[in-house]
Amino acid sequence: MTLNNIIRVSDLPSVADCSRRWMSRSRPAEVKAAGFDLREMSSSIGAAIGTGTHAGLENAFRSKMEARVIEVESFRECAAESIMESIKDGVIWDDATTNVDAAITQATRQARIIWDYFGDVIEPVAIEERLSADIGDGFILRGHIDVREAARVVDFKTGTVQRANQPQYGGYSLVARSNGHTVDAVAEIYSKRVGVTRDQPAPTLTEYDIAESEIAAQEIYTRMKADILAFRERGDPWVFLPNPNSMNCSENYCPAWGTSFCRAHKQPKAK
Ligand code: SF4
Repeated sequence: MTLNNIIRVSDLPSVADCSRRWMSRSRPAEVKAAGFDLREMSSSIGAAIGTGTHAGLENAFRSKMEARVIEVESFRECAAESIMESIKDGVIWDDATTNVDAAITQATRQARIIWDYFGDVIEPVAIEERLSADIGDGFILRGHIDVREAARVVDFKTGTVQRANQPQYGGYSLVARSNGHTVDAVAEIYSKRVGVTRDQPAPTLTEYDIAESEIAAQEIYTRMKADILAFRERGDPWVFLPNPNSMNCSENYCPAWGTSFCRAHKQPKAK
């Protein structure tokens, strides 16, 4: 098996929540090659809607950057195409989104409201830019940045709850700066996913301290590298610290739940 030594910036926040779940979701081939089984999982509708939202925003900001006309209908067209592709092999629905029409409407209006609030003020110099940095020991840190301005990184987030993503933004800042770009600020623009019978809330902008975020990213990827190397040497799942108290410790969200790779979670016995 070819060893995968790429660490994705977008993985950094989830490692602190459960390192073992991160390994099972992001590097399943390596886990299975070591002799462990994992559950096959469909993606969540929340993730599909997030991707559909990004598709509309990417198209709009790319049009702006290239001085092309932005068609209002493009948000729905991009959302529909992206979501149909994301769910074609199955999806896990949830209470906020129970069918595909609702999913397309939610992605469309999430993108639209971000565009309405921030379309005029964001000035992209690069869209969906993939950047990498050498982080030693044979590993590469790789980030996919939604929008880079002259001196700021902008990331779009969606979901029913806004998470804390400091390590991800530290990672973006590191890969951008190591490729010669200036980063004076990092901004997260969040659009909340709510049921289609409710009004779409206004998006929010959250800024993160760059120095602190970069430290968080470095501390986390240093542990990821060490854990991966220890697993290759010992083949022991316990090199990845489990967190059975995580809100995502369930058969719906974790490929390791109920498998030989993790026995740390609650295992209620039938009466
Ligand atoms: S089952 Fe729970 S503790 Fe085990 S890897 Fe998954 S989330 Fe972590």
